[in-house]
Amino acid sequence: MKSALNADNLPNRIRLLMKLRTSGVTDTRVLSAMESIPREMFVPEAFHDKAYEDTALPIDSGQTISQPSVVAWMSWALQVSDRMRVLEIGTGSGYQASILSRLARMVYTVERHKDLLRVAEERFKMLGLNNIMTHAGDGSKGWKTAAPFDRIIVTAAAHSVPATLLEQLAEGGIMVIPVGSDTEQILLRIEKTPQGIVQQHLMMVRFVPLVEGKLPK
Ligand code: SAH
Repeated sequence: MKSALNADNLPNRIRLLMKLRTSGVTDTRVLSAMESIPREMFVPEAFHDKAYEDTALPIDSGQTISQPSVVAWMSWALQVSDRMRVLEIGTGSGYQASILSRLARMVYTVERHKDLLRVAEERFKMLGLNNIMTHAGDGSKGWKTAAPFDRIIVTAAAHSVPATLLEQLAEGGIMVIPVGSDTEQILLRIEKTPQGIVQQHLMMVRFVPLVEGKLPK
């Protein structure tokens, strides 16, 4: 059996980072955050050998861990500093939240699948990431008691930008969110300026849908 932290995977991690760099990701804070988090810890054992390929992979509850290059671009687009509080919707494996925990002061992450959240929490503990707060619930409602947030990242596909999330974004804040159909979305970067909302299209992406309402059993 391969260990979750097989040292042989380190060269693969470095190789992936070099690939990201040549593809245009030049933000050194994002790259070193990604270098410090072993992605193989966040994927099912059957996919350990694919952990450092630039591809999304299946995780439990029919969900997916995002493609590393998408994690990199989203983290970069958010422009997170170490003084910021960040809200993530869609914890999934916990990989994106772990990257953000290296970049932000505090990460708040919401997941509707309790089972996924429990496993992600164990990973945060194993990695000693103690600035991540978790909540099982419908993330389209945000996290009212901890709002406003300097940054919001949605890692599930929305049909439109949830108004509640926009309300919970601080003035001057940035939100990155995939908006579109269940099969294809445009990644939006939304900035809340004193003059109003400024919206930028980043790239086409494919995320699992943001499911609103009741939680699964
Ligand atoms: N960020 C994750 C990948 C996200 S996959 C990672 O790094 O692994 C999208 C996740 O969003 C899934 O786990 C799905 O269960 C969750 N999700 C979908 N709709 C949601 C909602 N309304 N509230 C919270 N989580 C939601």
